[in-house]
Amino acid sequence: MGKNDNKWGCFRFAWSIAPASFIEMLLWGGVYCAATVVSVWATKQLLSLVVAGYSKKMFLTLLLYAVLVVISTAYSVFYKRYRVQFKVILDFEHKVKSLLFRKIKQISNESFESASADRTIKLADRAKQNLFRYVEIWISIGMALLQAIVVTLYVSHFNLWFLLLLPFSTLPPLISLLYQGSLWKKYYQAIEQCMREEAEYVKAMIDETACKESRITYAIEMLMEKWRGSRSYRDNMEKRKSQKIFLLKLALMPLEILGNHGGYFVSLILLYCGDIDYASCTAAIVAYVSLSSAFSSLVSMIGNESQYYKMVQPFFSFWALQERDGVESFSKLNNEIKLDHVSFSYPNQERKALDDISLTIKKGEILAIVGKNGSGKTTLSNVIMGLFLPTAGKVLYDGKDIAKISEERIHQEQSMVSQSFARYKMTVKDNIAIGNFEKKDDEEIEERKLAYLSDSNIPLEMMLGKEFGGKDLSGGQWQQVACARAFYRGGDFYALDEATAAIDPLKEEAMYSSFRKELNGKTGIIITHRLGAVSMADRIIVLDGGRIVQEGTHLELISMEGPYLHLWNTQTKAFRE
Ligand code: ADP
Repeated sequence: MGKNDNKWGCFRFAWSIAPASFIEMLLWGGVYCAATVVSVWATKQLLSLVVAGYSKKMFLTLLLYAVLVVISTAYSVFYKRYRVQFKVILDFEHKVKSLLFRKIKQISNESFESASADRTIKLADRAKQNLFRYVEIWISIGMALLQAIVVTLYVSHFNLWFLLLLPFSTLPPLISLLYQGSLWKKYYQAIEQCMREEAEYVKAMIDETACKESRITYAIEMLMEKWRGSRSYRDNMEKRKSQKIFLLKLALMPLEILGNHGGYFVSLILLYCGDIDYASCTAAIVAYVSLSSAFSSLVSMIGNESQYYKMVQPFFSFWALQERDGVESFSKLNNEIKLDHVSFSYPNQERKALDDISLTIKKGEILAIVGKNGSGKTTLSNVIMGLFLPTAGKVLYDGKDIAKISEERIHQEQSMVSQSFARYKMTVKDNIAIGNFEKKDDEEIEERKLAYLSDSNIPLEMMLGKEFGGKDLSGGQWQQVACARAFYRGGDFYALDEATAAIDPLKEEAMYSSFRKELNGKTGIIITHRLGAVSMADRIIVLDGGRIVQEGTHLELISMEGPYLHLWNTQTKAFRE
């Protein structure tokens, strides 16, 4: 789609989505513009015919006048108020929404990790409504200017003095356009940080989990204080911007008055001096009435232009997010996954989360990844699963670089329980079924539910989540649902990232034994900082600072000095004490 974050880019984008709507808009605008000019001509014609007493021609001109009135009304009532409102914009929005969904599917997972990704997507979703309006504003501005030029040129052939009115009527809106554009840009740059801060303070005050803690610590007072500080800075900036706009309007007022009303005086003076006849004088006055109404709407549209431009920009920031473009197909893992000198850094981070990792996982092998918090376990798991592409080095599935394989194919045989598992606000059954949408095996869903949620007495049809009047589960119960979903999905390759972190020790042991059965003969990675889970693994790697610092079986690793033994001693000591 190229670079669209400029005004011309908005046009190109909107055109690529709905060319027919834009041709229609241009045609209607053109017809309306032509109708205005013809009605000025018809006014002059009508008056000349009245003076000359030609009744038949007068009737035809009146008929033409009536047609012009119908066209103008059709434009403002049928097209602008009905068709645009109820058809064109809705169609356009649906098309943009589908593109938005398609893009979200293709955005690389790494892009989602950047601090602003979530906000960018939300803003882009809101911006889609304004894309059409923004382009419409520009088309209307263009049409109003065209109308001004054509009408002025037409009346100037009555007398050249009328030409003077063109700069008077077009200059104020053009100066406003340029000045207000730069003013709004500076304003938004100045308040951007403030708005983010405000949103975070409000979130901290009303967020379900954070607000309980905030109440106990009386943090709400401090949050409100900070929110007030940001807000008053923003209000001040807003006030200064509005004052500047007001002063500009004041400065441009003489020009505007001349543009809007000069037409009457020039027409009357020229009539008085005998340079134009009554018909031309009346036609010129009609022309300027239509021009001043066009210009008053032009001035308000120009005021809107900068705001709409700001509102549509997030859409293009979202559009510029990096996409995964692997296209090659891949059927099934037959031999091994190999990481060849892999490093990974999160967006906008200089520090490497993974640093020069080389590793091979054979098909059918279970690998445990252990290490301190922040050592890179989850990142490594995501890289092995092909969710993140390495920033350096390669991940090879049976020798094939995963950067070249389509993401859909990579995950085809994979299943995972992630640390940040999904909590779908649907029934328990749907929460499990969504793991493998095509399978539709009610018996197996029941089995999985019994295996992972047997002690919770939760019916399959029970709605989960408070949002739709359902029951909310505890963190551990949600995690059990996530496990049931992952194993219902099936596949050859499993990643369990702290899959029992929220589950009580008694249930945890039962879950480990289920995992053992499920993982039998499968390839898998188990991420844990609780060493009880490593008993399932054939091999263990220990990470520290994004690097592999130890590798071996449990027995090998506890028989040598090193971080694993230290970890083991610390955990077993805690139990012994
Ligand atoms: P672990 O799973 O071992 O706790 P992670 O793989 O989650 O560690 O994180 C490894 C490092 O990457 C940490 O230093 C963490 O701060 C950093 N990190 C994790 N996620 C992000 C992110 N979205 N953006 C920036 N840095 C991140």
